Amino acid sequence: MFKEFKEFIMRGNVLDMAIGVIIGGAFGKIVGSLVNDILMPLVGLALGGVNFSEQASTVNGVDIHWGLFIQTVIDFLIIAFVIFVIIKAANNMKKAPAPAPAAEPATKECPHCFSAISIKATRCPNCTSELK
Ligand SMILES: [Zn+2]
Repeated sequence: MFKEFKEFIMRGNVLDMAIGVIIGGAFGKIVGSLVNDILMPLVGLALGGVNFSEQASTVNGVDIHWGLFIQTVIDFLIIAFVIFVIIKAANNMKKAPAPAPAAEPATKECPHCFSAISIKATRCPNCTSELK
């Protein structure tokens, strides 16, 4: 039981996932702060001094904080976009591990017997002709 659990934990992708979750959590805070502290006040300013996080409507005595909801949606869109960009960049890096340099031909054709021989040969091993 414990051994199985340890194997599960030690599998690389679980660790990767844990790191991803932790980084994602920290990253989410950064994006949240970016949206709440920088973007939304600017958006509010552009819309004539509206503070989104304080936008709420009262329906039958219940506060509907739709301003907070819009902030959360914008948070999500920014995070989704950034993740998209990161994954795209990662895929590009994976796809292009520098195309292998065109392999130098290792053989040449003997001009006398037309057999394939080493590119370095000075004498054909098949017909023994001397090559320049
Ligand atoms: Zn030859």
